[in-house]
Amino acid sequence: MTIELINTGSELMLGRVLNTHQQWLCARFADLGRTVTRQVAVPDGSADIENAVREGLSRADLVVTTGGLGPTCDDITRERIAGMLGLVLHHDPAVEAQIRSYFVGRGRPVPERTKVEAMVPEGALVLPNRHGTAPGLAIRVDPNPFREGGRASWLVMLPGPPRELRPMFDTEVAPLVLREFPLEGGFACRTLKTTGIGESYMEELVSGPLRHLTDAGMDLGFCARVGEVDVRFVARGPAAAAVVAEAERITRGLAAQYIFGEQDDTLESVLVRELARRGQTLALAESCTGGHIANRITNVPGASAVLNAGFVTYANAAKVSVLGVPESVLRDHGAVSEPTARAMAEGARRVGAADWAISVTGIAGPSGGTSTKPVGTVHFAIAGPDGTEAFHQVNAFDRETFKYITAQQAMSRLLRRLAAVC
Ligand code: ATP
Ligand code: MG
Repeated sequence: MTIELINTGSELMLGRVLNTHQQWLCARFADLGRTVTRQVAVPDGSADIENAVREGLSRADLVVTTGGLGPTCDDITRERIAGMLGLVLHHDPAVEAQIRSYFVGRGRPVPERTKVEAMVPEGALVLPNRHGTAPGLAIRVDPNPFREGGRASWLVMLPGPPRELRPMFDTEVAPLVLREFPLEGGFACRTLKTTGIGESYMEELVSGPLRHLTDAGMDLGFCARVGEVDVRFVARGPAAAAVVAEAERITRGLAAQYIFGEQDDTLESVLVRELARRGQTLALAESCTGGHIANRITNVPGASAVLNAGFVTYANAAKVSVLGVPESVLRDHGAVSEPTARAMAEGARRVGAADWAISVTGIAGPSGGTSTKPVGTVHFAIAGPDGTEAFHQVNAFDRETFKYITAQQAMSRLLRRLAAVC
């Protein structure tokens, strides 16, 4: 199966928006056992979009466009594609009703311009948009005037905003792909998410014990991200599911302490899930991360069930007045020290009335380091029903990466502690 991806939007060509659809859609297709064969980005000009779609349709079984389905004058994908395929646009009352209810539900008037979003090319399938207004569209181009012998292709148009496109792909496009382009033989893939170990160490740890599977054709892949490494197994053929399950079993046996989740899991989503499952709550005492941990946890739906409070106590005075850190501890050991981290976590647990508390206090840099406490030094503490533990790391990175990695270490340590207690 050949798949081509066309990302439309002048903002992509001007570098104002990072083309995350390219990466996200390619990963999703790979998880379905299909590989995107070509990808282009084009500006919002009608000739550019038409040329790209014509070329895509001349080669591919499936062409996916993103962007340009909205109501503004630069949103021309629907009209231009209908025009070049000679399809009449008709008004779809069901789509209009859905758009109306989107605005009414938010107590906002229905803008006149959104009416164009209810125009559907004849014969197109409407892909409902549960997170916005413009629906996606799927057209079976048959006969396909641009392809040799008129061979049919599918053309799928998706909206630009990621929060609209992603759920639409999962609920509408993935089932269409599986239905229209069934895979011959079996296919299975699985991604394990790990943290606290580098890519090459992970490879060293698992590649030998998995050799019998890779020699038999299973793909083993590692993808390093900031503070994380994905381990991915892909197998084809009738035994695919069993092969991947065996690879997962072996890897979990070797690297259990590093594995925190699978597929789209993040440390924060797993932490919220695990605390919710136990009916337990969390408080945060952040200094050098400036609320970054709280931000990530509150990005997870359902965070309110577990996060009681997050304190950003940047100044020493705030550590004392908000968290009750004794002045003598700060004076004798400094703000970046194990005793301060312990007192912060215990204070946050008490003031936040939570089962667990995480504290972080460190030197983000670039200045402020000393010979005993170099830039990047972070002291952590985790206070819980069974006591307080402390540890430290040296994270010498730029400030943003420093916050991210520090948050990874704090959350993964709490996850490990949760796993140990029950
Ligand atoms: P809207 O109704 O919001 O206008 P649309 O379907 O017309 O949706 P566009 O106008 O092309 O989509 O893009 C809307 C926004 O979606 C862009 O401003 C950008 O923030 C985001 N976006 C579009 N394309 C991409 C992409 N390839 N990668 C990441 N984000 C994108
Ligand atoms: Mg738009």
